[in-house]
Parts: sequence; C-alpha cells; structure tokens
Amino acid sequence: MSPTPCPDLEVLFAELESGEGPALDHAAECEACAALMEDHRLLEQDLFRLADPLPPPSLVVNVMARVAESPVPQRREVWTGLCILLTSLGVGLGFLFTNDRALGRMGTAFASSVTGSRAFVEGLFSGAHALWSTAGLAVACFVAVVVFSSLFGLKRLVGSPPPSLSEA
Ligand SMILES: [Zn+2]
Repeated sequence: MSPTPCPDLEVLFAELESGEGPALDHAAECEACAALMEDHRLLEQDLFRLADPLPPPSLVVNVMARVAESPVPQRREVWTGLCILLTSLGVGLGFLFTNDRALGRMGTAFASSVTGSRAFVEGLFSGAHALWSTAGLAVACFVAVVVFSSLFGLKRLVGSPPPSLSEA
C-alpha cells in the first residue's frame, strides 16, 4: 500500500478541482481514494444531468407528430372567430368615434338612454336615424365591416374539419 496516509476528503476534492496536489498523487496509487473519487465523479455527473436535462434528440419530431395527429380543438376555432368579430367591432366603433358628427349623435342617444328604457329605445332609434342621415357613409362602412368580418369568422368555423365522430 501507499506509505502516505489517506488525505482528508475536502483536501482531495479541492485538489481534484485545481487538478494537482499531493492528495491527488496519493489517490493515483491508493485504491480506496480512487474508488472515492470515482463515486464522487459519478455523483457529480448525475447532479449535472438533474440540473440540465438534455431533451432526447427525437423530441421535436415527436412533438410535431403529436401536433399533426390531434386536430385543432373546436373551441379554439370559436375563439378565433370571436376575436375577429370583436376586433372588427372595435375597429368599426373606433371609426365612428373618430367621426365628430357621429360621436355627437351617439352621445345624444346615450344621454337620452339614461332617463329610461323607453327613452333609451326612442333615443336609440332617433340616434340611429340621425346617424344615418348625417353620417350614412360611416354607418355603411361600419355595417359592411361587421358583416364581412362575421362572414369571415363563420367561414373559418365552417371551414375547419369537425371532430371525427368515431373518436367522440
Ligand atoms: Zn488513500
């Protein structure tokens, strides 16, 4: 066996980090210390694997296959259509609000709506009438945008394949 006594573990691992030292020289000739260092190396390897797990090389291919297999959920299609509808509504309203005359008429209609539901309906109709007479083009554009976006949203819904009945 080696003439020098086994070094302290802390000293041995410290020299393992730096790469040289008398404890390392001892471990090269001592079976017990060599086994300890091998254990330490394997443990360190496991720790690194835990801290930074490498994804399997086939991960991307597997994920893409899964995505291709499962159809897009119907609910997401509905939400897409709803988003398109709401966005177009917002754009149409924004167009109206940028039109001063239309905004004034709508403000009048809204103010009359506060007095009561009947007054609200009357105000709404009179407001719509006034709106049409003063800002017909804006209203026509607004309606056209809403209608076309609705058609687009419906087409998206219809165009998507329904979930297969065999799976349901
Ligand atoms: Zn030793």
